[in-house]
Amino acid sequence: MEFDKARDIFGMYVFDRRAMKERLPQHIFEALMASIEGGQKLDSAMADMVAAAMKEWALSKGATHWTHWFHPRTELTAEKHMSFMSKDENGMPIESFKGKELIQSEPDASSLPSGGIRSTFEARGYSAWDPSSPAFIMMSKKGGTLCIPSVFISYDGTPLDLKTPLLKAVDAVETRSMRLLKLFGNRGIKWAHVTVGAEQEFFLVDNPVAKDRMDLKYCGRTLLGCCPPKGQQMEDHYFGSIPSRVLSFMEDVERDLYRLGVVITTRHNEVAPCQFEFAPQFADANLACDQNQQIMDIMRKMAKRHDFQLLLHEKPFAGLNGSGKHVNFSIMDSEGRNLLMPSSNHRKNIQFLMFLSAFLLGASKFHSLFRASIASPGNIHRLGGNEAPPAIMSAYLGTTLTNILEAVEKGLPDDMPAQALIDLGMNKLPSVMADNSDRNRTAPIAFTGNKFEFRAPGASQSIAGPLTMVLAAWAWGLEKMGDMIESKIGELDVIDAAIESIRFAASESRNFRFEGNAYSMEWQEEAKRRGLTVTNTTPEALALFLLPENRELLSRLNIMTEREIIAYYEIRIEQYIKTVEIELGILRNMVWEGVLPAISKQILMESAALASLPEENRKEAVSWNAYIARLGTLKNKLLSASDKLEGLRERLRTMEMEEQSAAITNEGLPLCEYIRNLCDTAESILAGDNLPYPTYTKILSIS
Ligand code: ADP
Ligand code: MG
Repeated sequence: MEFDKARDIFGMYVFDRRAMKERLPQHIFEALMASIEGGQKLDSAMADMVAAAMKEWALSKGATHWTHWFHPRTELTAEKHMSFMSKDENGMPIESFKGKELIQSEPDASSLPSGGIRSTFEARGYSAWDPSSPAFIMMSKKGGTLCIPSVFISYDGTPLDLKTPLLKAVDAVETRSMRLLKLFGNRGIKWAHVTVGAEQEFFLVDNPVAKDRMDLKYCGRTLLGCCPPKGQQMEDHYFGSIPSRVLSFMEDVERDLYRLGVVITTRHNEVAPCQFEFAPQFADANLACDQNQQIMDIMRKMAKRHDFQLLLHEKPFAGLNGSGKHVNFSIMDSEGRNLLMPSSNHRKNIQFLMFLSAFLLGASKFHSLFRASIASPGNIHRLGGNEAPPAIMSAYLGTTLTNILEAVEKGLPDDMPAQALIDLGMNKLPSVMADNSDRNRTAPIAFTGNKFEFRAPGASQSIAGPLTMVLAAWAWGLEKMGDMIESKIGELDVIDAAIESIRFAASESRNFRFEGNAYSMEWQEEAKRRGLTVTNTTPEALALFLLPENRELLSRLNIMTEREIIAYYEIRIEQYIKTVEIELGILRNMVWEGVLPAISKQILMESAALASLPEENRKEAVSWNAYIARLGTLKNKLLSASDKLEGLRERLRTMEMEEQSAAITNEGLPLCEYIRNLCDTAESILAGDNLPYPTYTKILSIS
């Protein structure tokens, strides 16, 4: 069979530099590039030219509609398609797309979550192209839609999306990085960009089997079901050979992504059966965030075509590993240098340590924001198990770097600090790090040789939220160190001033650095002693957004206003409540529709079989009678638990948000767990024919 070669199709549906250059007059192209790099707005005359070129390009590819494509504060993207086509005054068809439609559009956003920021009378917001992410065409069976990556802002100017705060956080890091680079005497560097690569874990299950489970369909995870006898304990799935059906899904996804200019560099099996991972080539933060959404979207659509169900949930199966999204991040300068890459050049190495420890400094002070940013209804089931990073934030650096930071902290000789660092093996770092990085998989944040990796975000999350918080902390650290260095220059050489600031960061971040096993019970205790934030529930973790120091940080860096933070918190609490409420409802239905009748069926079957025995055998059948009695008790317990569930659902309807969130956490989730255990016991003692839903073993067999 003939397949499109990656090279031939790469970027064909992106209005990228190549397409812009081809289709725009030279001076407009140059002005647009300047506005992309410098972050300025497009003026309206220019916007008209760009829009016209974009329209012609999109029509030539078969697109019929356009949309502003934005990230509301859910984890998804939103779009409202507008046709290019209209009629002129003579009733003749014209295809048009104006500059003002490119830079401003007015979706009716009254149904998107805003955390009470927009009252209904001002329910409209507007979206505007953010040119640092190129427009692209989402092809469909019978046409295509030109998607314009946009920010989304209410009429009073309050951002309502996840993108605006991200862009501001990126900017906060980049401007402070430039300042430090300048202090270090780097001339000629035009920009520093945050780079990001998000590894995406996911499950694929067979749709013909999985479709009979309401929980998978509506909640993306199983609410009941026993762990299969053969789960992941043999560790034979990780990096094993990819099942051919899955491989062909992956190839189709990759090809569609190539068309959108997204490169998947790695694909492999993950730890649990039917669990896989895609990792893209890293890109600028903003683009990486859009690309991760495109990856999830294309996977969703492609899964249907391949008769799979795609599960992006953080914990689809109890007893098996859940799925995360590892957000790798660094900063690159305009000369292509990775600023978190150790070097054999001494000056560059100090600079490297400075960027590294600026992150640690910020992270140690604001790690509660990281915790808040990964609190989601799904992630709660994954974090803190013996598989995913714990709910306590800490960073792992590896022995070599830890030793260096410790030595700096203790104090290098005053006369020759720089030489002391060389003696510590600093200049050999690149080769040491290459062999030695990332041995510890238990840390939520790890330095992996030339980048940090934040492993705690959930698989279904947009990376925008977690990334915004990580960058906010980094920006703060960079600023603090910049101030320290600047105040010492004159008195000290910049290198020595930098070493002093690194010493400060090393000492301040000591509590946040942990090299041991972050899954262990001892770490929980140790972390408390160290004063790290320890929270276990989603509402507790979300409330961390509201800590005065966190609000102050985000508003001072101009990333989110106080009002926005509160709104953001409310949206996320609401999302948590709604998600669990749906789960409670689905669980109720599954119990009533499937599990309770199945137990009765089994009781009837057993009783009839027992009754057919001669009298004396019946009396002797002690275990058999006990089995029937056990089924009876189980049914009774399940009925009484269901009553409780019903009662809780009733009460939730009359409660305010905070009360709902407490009831869901303290009563709802434990009750779900209890009901699940009863159902799983039933599953383990019912006849195969009486099992109401496909079992884990059935769901998790793809060849
Ligand atoms: P591992 O699998 O060991 O975590 P990889 O080298 O496969 O590491 O990279 C994982 C992800 O990190 C990829 O998506 C990759 O593009 C991304 N990545 C690599 N270098 C950088 C960087 N400098 N900045 C941001 N992301 C990066
Ligand atoms: Mg990784």
